[in-house]
Amino acid sequence: MMAKRYLSIHEAHELLAKGEVSSVELTEAALQRIDEVEEKLRAFVTVTRELALEQARHADERIKSGEFSVLTGIPAMIKDNMCTRGTRTTCASRMLESFVPPYDAAVVEKLNAQGMVMVGKGNMDEFAMGSSNEHSAFFPAHNPWDLERVPGGSSGGAAVSVAAGECIYALGSDTGGSIRQPAGFCSVVGLKPTYGRVSRYGLVAFASSLDQIGPVTRDVTDCAIVLNAIAGYDRQDSTSVDRPVPDYTKSLVPDISGLRIGVPREYFVEGMESGVEQVIRQAIGKLEELGAEIDWDVSLPDTPAALACYYIIAPSEAMANLARYDGVKYGYSAPEAKSMWDAMEKTRQYGFGPEVKRRIMLGTYALSAGYYEAYYLKAQKVRTLIAREFSEAFAQCDVLVTPTSPTVPFRIGEKMDDPLQMYLSDVCTLPINIAGIPGISVPAGFVDDLPVGMQILGEPFSEEMLLRVAFAYEQATGWGERKPPVQGKGR
Ligand code: GLN
Repeated sequence: MMAKRYLSIHEAHELLAKGEVSSVELTEAALQRIDEVEEKLRAFVTVTRELALEQARHADERIKSGEFSVLTGIPAMIKDNMCTRGTRTTCASRMLESFVPPYDAAVVEKLNAQGMVMVGKGNMDEFAMGSSNEHSAFFPAHNPWDLERVPGGSSGGAAVSVAAGECIYALGSDTGGSIRQPAGFCSVVGLKPTYGRVSRYGLVAFASSLDQIGPVTRDVTDCAIVLNAIAGYDRQDSTSVDRPVPDYTKSLVPDISGLRIGVPREYFVEGMESGVEQVIRQAIGKLEELGAEIDWDVSLPDTPAALACYYIIAPSEAMANLARYDGVKYGYSAPEAKSMWDAMEKTRQYGFGPEVKRRIMLGTYALSAGYYEAYYLKAQKVRTLIAREFSEAFAQCDVLVTPTSPTVPFRIGEKMDDPLQMYLSDVCTLPINIAGIPGISVPAGFVDDLPVGMQILGEPFSEEMLLRVAFAYEQATGWGERKPPVQGKGR
């Protein structure tokens, strides 16, 4: 049987379990779709065709033997900053262009144990620094809703591939919005779990106190399924939290009556597009119709400081993390250097792109002896205030609702010469990483055929609550069912 292009994990699993489709067929369908559209979308840095078919054959055997899970045999994409044994892991950087890890990231190991079929590694902004995928050292990815627009970033490839039917689900990483913002821009579901919920072992570090891995999926049910598989304590990650993992699919009940939903007024920011604001206000109206109590009187007054705080803390951590790329240990190494210092300089000159260099400069400046207290220490204090404001808000409300981004997907090239404008596309998402709380983006509608995402936030480890609200909203609206127009031939 021909596998349908836009199956969800749970639909595909049902067909696999009934023997109506095989994993090899599902995988071939995904690979065929990749062949059709990839020239236009560029969602993949590497397509792992042979590996995928081999894993699919194994999955089919497992299914026949009766020992399989809901993720067995389902085609997936992994963002290219998560280590995959034997498959190159580039972070979309020249520095790691030919780096083949000798081990799997913890999340990859977990998915492999469930019988994942990995069709490839996802395009991204270099080292996950960016909001548009244009900072990939290789090529930008394109938005399947409008090829002239960005898919968001840094996990652009993950969102594009799920939205366009090149795989069924993907893993992304989120330091300041990199799962939620592209999910919003491509009309798919993206969840950044609570800091510590998912192991970061084997995730190439950008800003270690902010980074978190999470699912990018076609619907909320799939999001719960993938979170079930990747969440949990890992002693290889000292910041992972030892706390039981509930069955997240149990929270998928379309009932939010009586829930208190807060709307923080600072998130309807200046510069927000009126179309986006309208869509989100309608979405909030829908939540009210579904029985939630809406509290319009929530304030997070330090929100305007979050962007500055993030752009001190993230580059400071990044500059320390990126010091390991010296041309000696692994990755690119400049040939023909005169001395050790010369080798290091030439390696970094070529190996790092402009945005990565900018972050290293920012971080080095913020941490330097003369400025440490004025910038880094101050930013840490602001971080504490922001986290405290969120916990006060959650004493008043069960969840908060905001737009995922202040705009619809922007045009490729539009913000490349203006880093500050680019940084602003994450105003609504990065406070969440600063506070370490979870956030999910769900499709909430369209403005002139371009997707808008709604972000739902909760206190630490409230993923069940977020999924419940997201699920109720999804069931009542079905925005995620609309599919992008990208075709194999022509436009
Ligand atoms: N866009 C933000 C940045 O450039 C966030 C990136 C991310 O979440 N990885 O830092």
